[in-house]
Amino acid sequence: MTLNNDECITLLEQIRWGGKPKCPYCGSTKATAYKSERRYHCNECFTSYSVTVGTLFHKTHVELQKWFLAIRLVLNSPGGVSVRQLAKEIGVNKNTAAYMIARIREAIADEPQLIKRFAEIQ
Ligand SMILES: [Zn+2]
Repeated sequence: MTLNNDECITLLEQIRWGGKPKCPYCGSTKATAYKSERRYHCNECFTSYSVTVGTLFHKTHVELQKWFLAIRLVLNSPGGVSVRQLAKEIGVNKNTAAYMIARIREAIADEPQLIKRFAEIQ
């Protein structure tokens, strides 16, 4: 997987929004894009957001491409991917790997559609 962070965000915006920003707080699609970063300002509730708000990727320091790879590994390992294996495959420490696996499993339970679409693309 050789997507850079910007391409990962574009992909995530496509998967989650079909390319049209939608406010995670009020559901409005009236948004103004900030030019400098991949964030949007909601014209209805006046908050700003990015596509990762409300997803398993929110507020983590792990790059999106590592998350995408981790999701694929979790989905494609019928017996479950081990913390050690994930840590090695994507180059994070074991605490981070354990955290990622937990969040991915939660997301599979909470947002199966979103996760399934990642699997389809990859
Ligand atoms: Zn809003």
